Amino acid sequence: MAAPLTLLQPGATLGVMGGGQLGRMFVHAAQAMGYRTAVLDPDPASPAGLVSHVHIQADYLDAAGLNQLADAADAITTEFENVPAQALRTLATRRPVAPAGEAVAICQDRAAEKAHFCASGVPCAPFAVIETAEQLAAVDDTLLPGILKTARLGYDGKGQVRVADRAELVAAWSELRQVPCVLEKRLALQRELSVIVARGADGQIVHFPVQQNLHRDGILAVTQVPAPQVPPALAAQAVERAGKIAAEMGYVGVLCVEFFVVDDGQGGSTLVANEMAPRPHNSGHYTIDACDLSQFALQVRTMAGLPLVMPRLHSATVMLNLLGDLWFRDGDEPLTPPWEQLLALPGVHLHLYGKTSARRGRKMGHLTITAETPEAARATALQACAVLGLPVF
Ligand code: ATP
Ligand code: MG
Repeated sequence: MAAPLTLLQPGATLGVMGGGQLGRMFVHAAQAMGYRTAVLDPDPASPAGLVSHVHIQADYLDAAGLNQLADAADAITTEFENVPAQALRTLATRRPVAPAGEAVAICQDRAAEKAHFCASGVPCAPFAVIETAEQLAAVDDTLLPGILKTARLGYDGKGQVRVADRAELVAAWSELRQVPCVLEKRLALQRELSVIVARGADGQIVHFPVQQNLHRDGILAVTQVPAPQVPPALAAQAVERAGKIAAEMGYVGVLCVEFFVVDDGQGGSTLVANEMAPRPHNSGHYTIDACDLSQFALQVRTMAGLPLVMPRLHSATVMLNLLGDLWFRDGDEPLTPPWEQLLALPGVHLHLYGKTSARRGRKMGHLTITAETPEAARATALQACAVLGLPVF
């Protein structure tokens, strides 16, 4: 029997599974409201562990570590979707856990996730589940060219292989060591969107405005809000669908749903769900600086049983991810990017996650640019891109 959520006043301790940058920003939001925090992450230098009141350095399935977290924390959340669902279920026998292990388990598995989209009445890209050689052989030709994705443990485009035909599909499944996969039809994307909702234990749902996202090499590069090329009706549909997806699984917490906008074949656009994350999301980092309530503040509220209010976007904004590549622009010796040049630009907010070493492709931080108008935000963001040697968008 899972422990029910109760109202937790500031002063209580909020626990989080995982110590990455999302955990760090959660800890900052919780502490700003007067909560104490406890982080479980095996890495002694984890970004969230470094700033938390308590850091339990243990493996996610370590029984003693989980007990320590349940001793320390009055409620527990997660900051990454690959925390073993079993660990959340174990914690739930002692403390309220939001989101629940069952919801996280759905988000961890692309096949379960797509089944959930269908059950919620939300269309996704045409796909086939591939767990056996028979299923591989039976794949419909209409799914090719496609993208073969491991059902579990993929992120930032990892665990994905683009395949043009059957021969490439067979080779790709071998390359992925024949683990359970999903083959998705490769769609001609007009653009990518995401919607972040927060849902309370009482079923109340609030949401942020729709984000327009640009990925490079499978990694989020740029988020713009308001979404410049999204008609209001499409934005409303995305919000409605994200809410349905959350409600259908009785979700409690912050949930992000990624969508593709694709050509409907009749000169218009149609919306398909791509994937979801049972936590705050990289495409919602702008909410710290451009909204009156951040996605992390809402994560705190959902797990503390506090009221949810609709967040308000008070500035137009662009978010640029800062990947480790920026440290290696001059070769193999890491250099500090020219922060002072960026901070000379109006409306630039620098966030660095305190990671001890830069690596190519590693998310080291982000910039949020806020301005009065979307045009002004984009103009400053382009100046920041020029300073950093990033491509224009
Ligand atoms: P994340 O870091 O968001 O968890 P991920 O590794 O789980 O990423 P996806 O979101 O499935 O991967 O895919 C990464 C990117 O690859 C998408 O944002 C999109 O740009 C592209 N992509 C994925 N699936 C398709 C598809 N079916 N058709 C066209 N492009 C796709
Ligand atoms: Mg994605």
